[in-house]
Amino acid sequence: MPAKSPRSKSQARELLFGDLWEFDPAPESAPAFIDDRYRLFIDGKHSAPRSKKYFDSISPRDGKKLAEIPVANAADVDAAYQAAAKAFKSWSKLPGAERGKYLFRIARLLQDRSREFAVAETLDGGKPIKESRDFDLPMAAAHFFYHAGWADKLDYVAPGRRLNPLGVIGQVIPWNFPLLMLAWKIAPALATGNTVVLKPAETTSITALKFATLLEQAGLPPGVVNIVTGAGETGAAVVNHPLAAKIAFTGSTEVGKIIQRSLAGTGKKLTLELGGKAANIVFDDAPLDQAVEGIINGIFFNQGHVCCAGSRLLVQEGIETEIIARLKRRLATLRTGDPLDKNTDIGAINSAEQLGRIRELVQSGIDEGAEIHQSSCQLPKQGFYHAPTLFTGVAQSHRIAREEIFGPVLSIMSFRTPEEAIEKANNTCYGLSAGVWTDKGSKILMMASRLKAGVVWANTYNKFDPSSPFGGYKESGFGREGGKHGLLDYASLAPLDITR
Ligand code: NAD
Ligand code: MN
Repeated sequence: MPAKSPRSKSQARELLFGDLWEFDPAPESAPAFIDDRYRLFIDGKHSAPRSKKYFDSISPRDGKKLAEIPVANAADVDAAYQAAAKAFKSWSKLPGAERGKYLFRIARLLQDRSREFAVAETLDGGKPIKESRDFDLPMAAAHFFYHAGWADKLDYVAPGRRLNPLGVIGQVIPWNFPLLMLAWKIAPALATGNTVVLKPAETTSITALKFATLLEQAGLPPGVVNIVTGAGETGAAVVNHPLAAKIAFTGSTEVGKIIQRSLAGTGKKLTLELGGKAANIVFDDAPLDQAVEGIINGIFFNQGHVCCAGSRLLVQEGIETEIIARLKRRLATLRTGDPLDKNTDIGAINSAEQLGRIRELVQSGIDEGAEIHQSSCQLPKQGFYHAPTLFTGVAQSHRIAREEIFGPVLSIMSFRTPEEAIEKANNTCYGLSAGVWTDKGSKILMMASRLKAGVVWANTYNKFDPSSPFGGYKESGFGREGGKHGLLDYASLAPLDITR
């Protein structure tokens, strides 16, 4: 500041913005552009369902109807497969760099429209806006960016071998991360030269149908991606269509088993991403502040509607009392309520049915003798909400220690030795993920190699990256999504023709 400035010393330090600076509009105030009634997306066209039937998509935030979603019947699903089979002929021959351009375009459009999609996702599914804004949307875009990069480098995935596309892929996804699961499915399938028929979950179809409009913006050739909506019957039609070369399913273990049975002997490839009941294991040498945050994030992220949620907490005996006291204090600070409020930590439960399922399991915990602790937060009168809940005094035989609750409910148990922790952690039919909290690196490595889980996080939880393969052991399914492993699940391998 020159000496002759008329401002006094104190004024000189002040930043004067005047009216030149404005705040960006808050994300939750962005219009979500939700149609009253949607159509199917088949062969690049938005078409009314041949079934002539529609069902309501409800907002769990207030229980009110958001939009009408078409029911695709077998004829609609067949039309989608015919379109995908036709599109496969040219899409699979396109040079990888060209396919990559489309994927880059999709990724950038997702970033452009991220506010609109984030609000729609929160309205339709109930997750807090800060999660759809800061997690679901950026991660969905990241998956398209990542796979755009692979599209012209497929010859380097498996050295000396070539990745050939499989054909038309049938994909069925759940409601907990609607757009992100769509991205996990569509991005690797397109990068490797396949075409797709995708069915979103019935309670959360809106962002998938909006995504169809984004594909039009991206100029994706008709038929490369087809989106059909409906419930289990539509899903079964997608799974059982004869033109499907592979089925990629994410959802419950129960439905995964039905699918595996119905595909047996058909020659179709299958990957299954199913349920989980992860152990989050805290040793007495762990940094407690971080561990408490990790436990909270592990179970309450997305209302606990997370297949890899850390729903079984295993605490070493010496710190059990201390950890429980800290968790109770932290629980009291969690803000539960309107998912469109950007301060909300725990939003709405996805559907009335899911809320019923959570309540039934919570009641079983009380009946079987575990001790319940809930935060005293006030829940909104309308909509579907559940208070964050802790159970202490849980036995391994209790249903709340064995069954996936898929809600904001944590079951706490203790252990004395690492041996006992491993045994308890692996004592489940699932094997998707686990967490280990300790100061000692060698203990992390030992635990990671002995835990039967597809992902083991150490001193952190719920961290994802498109380059890092995700998937399960045992009844959590098979196949991987993300990374090179994920690409290999969408291709067949042939010798690389080095004379090309
Ligand atoms: P769900 O299995 O009932 O439904 C998943 C999808 O399958 C939906 O689109 C549904 O319409 C469809 N479907 C239902 N019956 C079908 C059938 N007979 N044939 C074909 N499709 C059918 O599960 P949900 O309640 O929607 O989701 C919750 C479950 O998903 C949890 O168990 C959770 O762990 C699991 N999940 C797993 C992962 C993972 O990556 N491993 C990710 C998210 C959710
Ligand atoms: Mn909904």
